[in-house]
Amino acid sequence: MVQKVIKTDQEWKDQLTEISYDVLRKHSTERAFTNDNFPKLEGSFLCAGCETTLFESQAKFDSQSGWPSFYQPINSNVVIETTDTSFSMKRTEVSCSICDGHLGHVFHDGPKPTGLRYCINGSALNFKKSIKD
Ligand SMILES: [Zn+2]
Repeated sequence: MVQKVIKTDQEWKDQLTEISYDVLRKHSTERAFTNDNFPKLEGSFLCAGCETTLFESQAKFDSQSGWPSFYQPINSNVVIETTDTSFSMKRTEVSCSICDGHLGHVFHDGPKPTGLRYCINGSALNFKKSIKD
């Protein structure tokens, strides 16, 4: 069993930047093309709330959507997928399984091998370069 990270609203507010708090804790969506300026290096993408590794750079692709896009998470245990019917749309919401932070949505128009597009808010992620010489 994985240990959940549970904090009060105030603790999240103190820890996170304003935009990361809005996305992770208030289910906001950042504006497109504001937060996909990650280095194009081999590395991992960590949850900005709890530092859990969620995605790897190998699974990142340029979807032209303006949001970081991945065709799969590092494994299926790190994310929770739930049905989101807000804005009169039926979408699948993706959250961090450790801190329940909102990450983005997953769509079925992604590339091979999965055909999935995890459309994730960049402000919900931290990039960590692989340590290699
Ligand atoms: Zn998290």
